[in-house]
Amino acid sequence: MKILVLNAGSSSQKSCLYELGDELPDQPLQPIWEAKVDWTHHQGVAEIEVKTQHGATLKGESPGDRSTVIAHMLNLLWSGDTQVIEQPSDIDVVGHRVVHGGQDYRESVRVTAEVKAAIARLAIFAPVHNPANLEGINAIEKALGSVPQIAVFDTAFHSDLPLATQVYPIPYKWFERGIQRYGFHGISHRYCADRAAQLLHRDLSDLRLITCHLGNGCSLAAIRDGHSVDTTMGFTPLEGLMMGARSGSVDPGILIYLLRQEGFNADTLDQMLNQESGLKGVSGVSADMRQIRAAIEQNKPRAKLAFDVYIHRLRAQIGSMLPSLSRLDALVFTAGVGENSPEVRASTCEAFEFLGLKLDDSKNSHNPKDQDIATLDSTIRVLVIKTQEDWAIAQECWRMLNHSVN
Ligand code: ADP
Repeated sequence: MKILVLNAGSSSQKSCLYELGDELPDQPLQPIWEAKVDWTHHQGVAEIEVKTQHGATLKGESPGDRSTVIAHMLNLLWSGDTQVIEQPSDIDVVGHRVVHGGQDYRESVRVTAEVKAAIARLAIFAPVHNPANLEGINAIEKALGSVPQIAVFDTAFHSDLPLATQVYPIPYKWFERGIQRYGFHGISHRYCADRAAQLLHRDLSDLRLITCHLGNGCSLAAIRDGHSVDTTMGFTPLEGLMMGARSGSVDPGILIYLLRQEGFNADTLDQMLNQESGLKGVSGVSADMRQIRAAIEQNKPRAKLAFDVYIHRLRAQIGSMLPSLSRLDALVFTAGVGENSPEVRASTCEAFEFLGLKLDDSKNSHNPKDQDIATLDSTIRVLVIKTQEDWAIAQECWRMLNHSVN
């Protein structure tokens, strides 16, 4: 079965093609074809990078709107040096990461006109991502006709959060109008929970985990017996941890003050909180943890301060997840920072030594991947897991298609 996965970001579009047999392997497979489109460097021009399992690569640029660029990218599957299939009809199913499924979608669904309308309607909650996801779905319809498409939602894993976690302490009518904690990064948190159970040889239905997804966006999930019972992102992906350029949670009184006293409006607040805050805003250096670490090496005090605030908030919010679990079996680090920064892992774990958590410094500093980096006598396991959202989407498509066929 050939499964194409589309993972759309605000200014990027990642895609990959997996080839699966009759059995679902328990280890992540490598895609046979991968493409990344990036709009961040030149306004209106997309940079495209493609590589195949057999080592063919292509780098190029493509002008035009998002759907034109996606159509061009898809062509590279069945033509040119990066060709891996004969024709578009070789693709059996297409899976999409869809950021917001609202209250409607608690599981992945087959895309229909009704599902498309819901994704469009939910764009009021995710104005950057849902429209991009929809463009991807439409581009596939245009290029591949009636191939089955599956929407895999980032909110779905958190859809059965306890009510007390979902409801904000504001007038109840707003909850009735959809203002509630949804939570995000669900595909990654769920994947890491499954992988953690596998790595620990434990049953997920008897495992208490905190998964730390630390990338450009950052969130935690408290996972009890396979269910997300608390998470730091909320109504939007702005709540919770301090992130690369996003503030995470701040005193809402600051926003009222800025609106009243400093001439801010909704757009300028949005810009400040989503793009000029976090590591970038505090350090004045960068949103990228690598640059922050480099600046700390050069004794830049604000880079050190940004790192300290990041760690303080990470530790504090990990602490806030503990009561929902009443026991912690493993702390999991994933995504760009979580997978690659030994300093972030060490500084975070240090605060939990009083619980008997002990990090193995040597394992922590030797590029661990899908590995337990706690000492043997640690009371809590510490795992570094490479998140594989695309593989998780491919697995979901495989399950859904096999399920409907059988
Ligand atoms: P996204 O959230 O966009 O999917 P990633 O999960 O790939 O992003 O995370 C990207 C971030 O990971 C970068 O901005 C950078 O801060 C961080 N990162 C990547 N490599 C390293 C590294 N070696 N050390 C520290 N941070 C890193």
